[in-house]
Amino acid sequence: MILQGKPVADAVLERTRAYIQQNNLKLKLAIITSGTDPASAIYARNKMNACASCGIDHELISMPESSTTKDYAKMIAHLNNDPKTTGIILQLPLPSFINEKQLIELIAPEKDVDGFTKKAKFPPCTPAGILTILDYYKGKNWLEGKNAVVIGRSSIVGSPMATLLTSRNATVTLCHSKTPDMTYYTKNADVIVVATGKAKLLKKEMVKEGSTIIDVGINRIDGKLYGDADFENLQDICDITPVPGGVGPMTVATLVARIVMLDKEVKKQKSQEKTM
Ligand code: NAD
Repeated sequence: MILQGKPVADAVLERTRAYIQQNNLKLKLAIITSGTDPASAIYARNKMNACASCGIDHELISMPESSTTKDYAKMIAHLNNDPKTTGIILQLPLPSFINEKQLIELIAPEKDVDGFTKKAKFPPCTPAGILTILDYYKGKNWLEGKNAVVIGRSSIVGSPMATLLTSRNATVTLCHSKTPDMTYYTKNADVIVVATGKAKLLKKEMVKEGSTIIDVGINRIDGKLYGDADFENLQDICDITPVPGGVGPMTVATLVARIVMLDKEVKKQKSQEKTM
């Protein structure tokens, strides 16, 4: 089975749209970009379109090419203090002379849509969205007792994915570039999440027939998009997400839903403060 992301993403967006309308919420997302990376421009546009479809106000802040880390920091501080801004996204990557790590930590945790800051209220959107895909196609308790392998240990995808799968009672192995024999682990896996940025890294001979593969990778080769799994040869023996059209749309839907969750958290916090 091909695990399409769009129906899952559409369901999340529909729920979000209805909730915003019913509660008459006024929410706003601000996306800060360097304005120099063409792929970033596409991702930012997708996020803004998804916000628009749910009635969330949105602003794209394209920083001038000459901007320094300090200029970005000033913009983040401004948005942190702006009561109209519910959520902030720093669209990565930024130019190499900008200190991304330092800037991410400047985003107020209650406005951190991506879930990238150390004090984030919620996990990063991509692994959170992957759980939603698995719940949609496999059912809520499906992960319990499964052997899961995550390939890639980045702080925004692989590592939080391993934590989330563990929280669902899967037995998780985290593989990475220094894992000597990945097939040893992947052959025994019921579910594999591959997030390496290496096109077609996961091959048919590395997996068990009937397993479930979630392909996070986005690799642009000669203008075409490829995932980290060899989709052509895996689709007949596994359940697998396509690239494009799998994890990507779900990440966007998750971050739109996240804006509502952040708003709820802030309101909850305020009402708790009032009763103290
Ligand atoms: P990253 O470069 O930060 O991390 C890659 C990880 O893969 C590292 O931990 C590294 O150890 C591991 N790795 C690299 N080569 C390997 C190999 N040969 N064998 C085993 N492990 C290997 O990347 P990231 O930010 O985690 O992103 C991974 C991929 O997912 C990229 O293609 C990125 O564009 C994509 N991505 C997609 C979405 C989405 O919404 N679809 C979101 C985030 C990232």
